[in-house]
Amino acid sequence: MSESILRVSNLQKKFGSLHVLRGIDFAVEPGERVAIIGGSGSGKSTFLRCLNFMEIPTSGTVELDGKTLGRPISDTSDVRQYPEAELCQVRERVGMVFQQFNLFPHMTVVENVMEGLVTVKRMKKPQARERALTELRKVGLEEKVEVYPSRLSGGQQQRVAIARALAMEPEIMLFDEPTSSLDPELVGEVLRVIRQLADEGRTMLLVTHELGFAYHFATKVIFLADGVFHEVGTPDQVLKNPVQEKTRTFLNRFS
Ligand code: ADP
Ligand code: MG
Repeated sequence: MSESILRVSNLQKKFGSLHVLRGIDFAVEPGERVAIIGGSGSGKSTFLRCLNFMEIPTSGTVELDGKTLGRPISDTSDVRQYPEAELCQVRERVGMVFQQFNLFPHMTVVENVMEGLVTVKRMKKPQARERALTELRKVGLEEKVEVYPSRLSGGQQQRVAIARALAMEPEIMLFDEPTSSLDPELVGEVLRVIRQLADEGRTMLLVTHELGFAYHFATKVIFLADGVFHEVGTPDQVLKNPVQEKTRTFLNRFS
């Protein structure tokens, strides 16, 4: 029996003739924090999106708590052919935070956080609001609950997006370059929130170019290249003493 919270076997993803993920085997234990690094276009986002079925894998399996999620369909299939109920279930369990925040612009901050609770979890509005306010306090935004996202800084918007994901009580959180579109002075406030989640022992996967943060944050670092996990190890192994030539070349770009 596996104790892994997430297990991926021979995951492949093609977009037409473009073979992005070429067979990934991977498991995450509860409480692990995995940083994923790799060049632009190497498939980091595609990998995360396959884990919550925003992209349907071309082949392979994704298991959460020993239960296989969905099934890969075929090469040309698109996500719209997939049973909506099943996708909703997966997305409740696997939370995701994007580079571009993806908040609903026509909803206030608190409404953004309540939305999934009401529509997916079928929570009554007063309870959903309470839960939303609790999550917003945790990310330090209790003063901003009634404003619209356009009135917030990028760092604040990203903290709303994190609160919105957390409100769903996911088993795993996926972060796809959560600070890449922020002005440098706003990166810290978002990384602090992620650090706080790490201290709570949450299971998280983080795609990032913030190598300094990754070094301190992660229990495991993965270098994705050529559609496979080219190098996997502790932060010290992968970021300080990589054995693969390609990893070294990649890291040299940052120094
Ligand atoms: P990364 O996040 O590492 O920069 P991505 O996962 O976004 O890389 O993309 C990997 C490759 O797959 C890129 O060549 C990208 O253009 C391609 N790709 C990503 N999504 C799609 C899609 N929906 N349709 C076609 N090609 C895609
Ligand atoms: Mg990406």
